[in-house]
Amino acid sequence: MSTLVFLEAADDLGLQALTFARRYDPEAEVVAIGNAPGVSARVHLAEIEGYAPQAWARAIASRSPTTVIAAGTERGNEVLAHAAVMLDGVFAANVIAADGDTVTRQRWGGSLLEEARLHGDVKLMTVAPHTVAIEADAGEPEVQPFRPELEAGDLIARVGERVETSSGGLSLAEAPVVVSGGRGVGSAEGFAALEELAGLLGAAIGCSRAVTMAGWRPHTDQVGQTGTKISPDLYIPCGISGATQHMAGCKGAKNLLAINNDAEAPIMATADYAVIGDVLEIVPAITAELRRVRGLS
Ligand SMILES: Cc1cc2nc3c(=O)[nH]c(=O)nc-3n(C[C@H](O)[C@H](O)[C@H](O)COP(=O)(O)OP(=O)(O)OC[C@H]3O[C@@H](n4cnc5c(N)ncnc54)[C@H](O)[C@@H]3O)c2cc1C
Repeated sequence: MSTLVFLEAADDLGLQALTFARRYDPEAEVVAIGNAPGVSARVHLAEIEGYAPQAWARAIASRSPTTVIAAGTERGNEVLAHAAVMLDGVFAANVIAADGDTVTRQRWGGSLLEEARLHGDVKLMTVAPHTVAIEADAGEPEVQPFRPELEAGDLIARVGERVETSSGGLSLAEAPVVVSGGRGVGSAEGFAALEELAGLLGAAIGCSRAVTMAGWRPHTDQVGQTGTKISPDLYIPCGISGATQHMAGCKGAKNLLAINNDAEAPIMATADYAVIGDVLEIVPAITAELRRVRGLS
């Protein structure tokens, strides 16, 4: 058996996948692209410029693994889907536990756990974000560079340009505080008040799908089943009702402060704290009070 962990970076989600992989196979090695992550493992380092999902998958497939594990990020899922086709393997996304060919994985945004068998010689899994406690890894990688043989078309889809996220580079998935807005914010302009509060709290901005559908914020800001899964110390959903598809993305939050004008909104069932009122009055009031106690006003 040869297990490869596809590691984009030694960030929280990457280290969760590495911990998961080592529990599955203590001999697991790492495959990385471009830069070697600082982990104590044998790292197969593919020399490819920039994100190109099919080329990255080709690099993984070229190592002929029997098991591939990656973080359940958008990229992790995309790259492993391509690798599964190349390796003629079976792929399970959002796995929380694995033993041999039996996996437990999240379905329906995490509201259902499914036990499944992976019937195939090559197994690929992505690890559901924030479901594994990271085990410390302090060490140096043993790097083995290689240049994968790419096929025509492997570089057709690739990142051509980078645009700064609206969170100013702060990762939504890993931010310690997230201020999120829903339909109740009323407009794209209404997010200015949330951005000001987020700036003071060192928070990332999130939003609901109602907001991305309205075009008020980019999809990269969306929290939920079809958005980013977050687990901040504090989550502040403003004018968000708490639909199951939204809650699927923030159930890892340690504290939830809901701001909503409806005391009966579903989100109140999950909230640790709540302020009932108009978001466009409450958020500026919190910001003003923070400025006052910090001597900024
Ligand atoms: C397959 C599928 C996948 C989905 N994936 C996601 C996903 O990833 N993420 C996601 O968020 N949704 C997702 N959805 C959509 C989800 O079902 C909800 O429609 C969406 O989350 C609702 O967004 P919202 O809470 O902003 O809007 P609403 O449900 O309309 O809620 C608005 C809230 O704002 C409050 N409000 C209104 N005015 C004010 C005010 N002035 N001050 C304070 N509060 C106010 C209201 O009381 C209400 O609670 C998905 C749906 C499907 C079918």
